Amino acid sequence: MEEQMLRRTWAEIDLDALRHNYETLHAHTKAPLVGVVKADAYGHGAITLSRELEKLGVRYLAVSNLEEAKELRKAGIEAPILILGYTPPEYVDQLIAHRITQAAAGERAAIAYSEAAQKCGGTLTVHIKVDTGMSRLGFPCTGDRFDEGVAAARRVCALPNLSAEGIFTHFAVSDEPENGDCKAFTLGQYQLFRRFYAAVEEGGHTFALHHCANSGASAFYPEMALDMVRPGILLYGCGNGAVQLGLKPVMTLKTSVSDIRPLEEGRTVSYGRTYKVEAPAKMGVLPIGYADGFFRALSNQIRMFVKGDFVPQRGRICMDMCMIDLSARPDVAVGDEVEVFGPHQRVDLLAETVGTIPYELTCAVSKRVPRLFFKNGQQVGSELRMYL
Ligand SMILES: *Cc1c(COP(=O)(O)O)cnc(C)c1O
Repeated sequence: MEEQMLRRTWAEIDLDALRHNYETLHAHTKAPLVGVVKADAYGHGAITLSRELEKLGVRYLAVSNLEEAKELRKAGIEAPILILGYTPPEYVDQLIAHRITQAAAGERAAIAYSEAAQKCGGTLTVHIKVDTGMSRLGFPCTGDRFDEGVAAARRVCALPNLSAEGIFTHFAVSDEPENGDCKAFTLGQYQLFRRFYAAVEEGGHTFALHHCANSGASAFYPEMALDMVRPGILLYGCGNGAVQLGLKPVMTLKTSVSDIRPLEEGRTVSYGRTYKVEAPAKMGVLPIGYADGFFRALSNQIRMFVKGDFVPQRGRICMDMCMIDLSARPDVAVGDEVEVFGPHQRVDLLAETVGTIPYELTCAVSKRVPRLFFKNGQQVGSELRMYL
């Protein structure tokens, strides 16, 4: 049972590549790292990756919500954890009990956190979030709202049972440095952030941790590192800047040839008959489809890597299967491994093909696809969300 499952479709997670990326980013930014492991570490497996990052000396781990944070604590992760998103105040006791740091995205939420913390008799550690241009979360600070934001942040720093350890902001376009407008916007966000926290600190409270650099800023503006950097996608070896920095893809999505069928001229392949066989052909059937996270929008547009060379994908990608053209490949047999994306074909290329970002493709690798973890070429563990 286990053997069959593993030989269908799986994601290999290269922990040596993770270490390489971590060390490269650390050397490039000269700053401690926050390992952003939200969304199950962008689909890579948050528990195992957090354990590795902890061994590497990560300064903080960042997740999106309380469930993700608790999962790491339950797995025995001891590193500080920051929740980047919103947590309702009624969960403050859990945040405190699990030693989880919460982003404080506004005064109203911070007051509610303080009141809840007083009720349960503990202290909640928070990082103040500043909205310098994402227009999503955070204390206002743009335009004529600067003073209002500073005053609110100062009041929050003085609230009982809150410990304002950090202050941070998030960039909107730091990963497009070749675009002049984007560069100017990022520099503007950075300068505004620095002015903002300096003004808050004039009120008497000093933050231990100031941070703003996501992957884009870590790669292209390492001088903005401040006390720590928060790369997500680059840690996984994808995204803008990954190739320039020599980062290695951590995830390789693999499947295997389950059947090879000869098709005579004139036959059409899969739903919608979008691919027509022009000469006698041989199609390989792969047990991977959009239910595994392999986007249907990629149909007829990509190649896959089999035994040293690429073959084209043909016809619509189905829920659980798709076809590849093996007409020119007598060397490929049933059971052979196929790389969907990984070191031979970066996930970034597939993302570009469908007009999206690599984040969406690695996050989409679904819960029925087992993650197999490798170190020094040896499998050292596995995770399958579906049957856990
Ligand atoms: C997701 C996230 C990051 C990491 O973003 P990348 O582009 O993957 O580096 C950093 N900071 C915040 C606040 C985030 O939400």
